[in-house]
Amino acid sequence: MYQPKSLHEIRIYHSKIIMSTLRQTGLMTKNDLALKTGLSLSSVTNILKILTDRNLVTLGDKIDSYAGRPATYIVPVLDAVFAVGIEVSQYSVKFVLMNLGEPVLAREKYDVIFENTEAYWDRIREWLEAFIDGNGVDRSKLGGVNLATRLTVRNEDRIGTIPVLLDRSTEFIDTEMICEKFGDYNFDVSLNTKIAGAIYGLWQSRDLSDYVYLSVDSTIGGCVVRNYETVNIFDLSDNFGHMIVRPGGYRCACGRIGCLETQCTESGLYRRLGYSSISEFFSALERGDERCSARWKEYLDDLCTALNNLYMAYDLDLVIGGSMTQYLEKYRDEIDQRIFRDYNLFPVKKKLIFCHEGEYAAAIGSAAVVIEKFIAQKIN
Ligand SMILES: [Zn+2]
Repeated sequence: MYQPKSLHEIRIYHSKIIMSTLRQTGLMTKNDLALKTGLSLSSVTNILKILTDRNLVTLGDKIDSYAGRPATYIVPVLDAVFAVGIEVSQYSVKFVLMNLGEPVLAREKYDVIFENTEAYWDRIREWLEAFIDGNGVDRSKLGGVNLATRLTVRNEDRIGTIPVLLDRSTEFIDTEMICEKFGDYNFDVSLNTKIAGAIYGLWQSRDLSDYVYLSVDSTIGGCVVRNYETVNIFDLSDNFGHMIVRPGGYRCACGRIGCLETQCTESGLYRRLGYSSISEFFSALERGDERCSARWKEYLDDLCTALNNLYMAYDLDLVIGGSMTQYLEKYRDEIDQRIFRDYNLFPVKKKLIFCHEGEYAAAIGSAAVVIEKFIAQKIN
């Protein structure tokens, strides 16, 4: 378990646990909260007092209890803050809007090829404006806008020129220029898409403290989460994508042959067969097209090799996010069988988890960071 170091940290940590439990479960009484979170009733009472003072929760209807005083429902103030998460990737820009509740309030995707130009970022700014206004967000309640892209550097090195890895090359984006352009939004470029996706995993499931996150998208990478914290989040976080899964396969931009990254990206799946979109590929596959069937078999072989390697290396649950999630989930049984079957050496079988809205995992993770920061600031 995560060990907060000071009383202050404990207060923030417990506040986040209570807010996230309310978010996931809805109305609860104080007793329900204590039971569900494992916190003592007096801790829950103390935290609820702080949260009520800060207008993050209010008291709702009273309900009859069988013994003693009637209990009161605790109601989270869901619209205390709004957050926008953006994911910029090589082939698309995705936006999500969240508040303190679930699910995601709005999502929007633009299929557009990444261009390292000011005009490109101007366009994103226009889309952001339209997204915020189109969804009727009260700007005074907008806690911030957070952007994830495929950064390869440490978070604290955010400002300056940072490399963004694309399918076949590296571009350098000027984060200072971007932050200035979006300055009036409490804007931050702070997250690697793989970390953001993993954070989304945390946001979605507080019960899961340790897992390996793999994002399968137009690029592939991931990270390890231990005790609710991403472990290898820095420069190495994309290295999962460069494990060799097919000796003699395609050459990767990194110089190796047969990296997961070259074998199993979404775009690699359909482009090599001349299709213009992933849905076209799957339509053909469902029609029984032989080339697609052969390609899909090879794809699953390679992906399962990678998932097997991750399972053998870490012995943790595997969480899959990214735009391929929705397609991979249909093959859940087959993938699960191929990774976990017949390992007598590992008596406790681990789980294979597909993120809901995996396509938006990184954008949701980015927005979740804004929300978490907001809660922490409120508690301070
Ligand atoms: Zn590689």
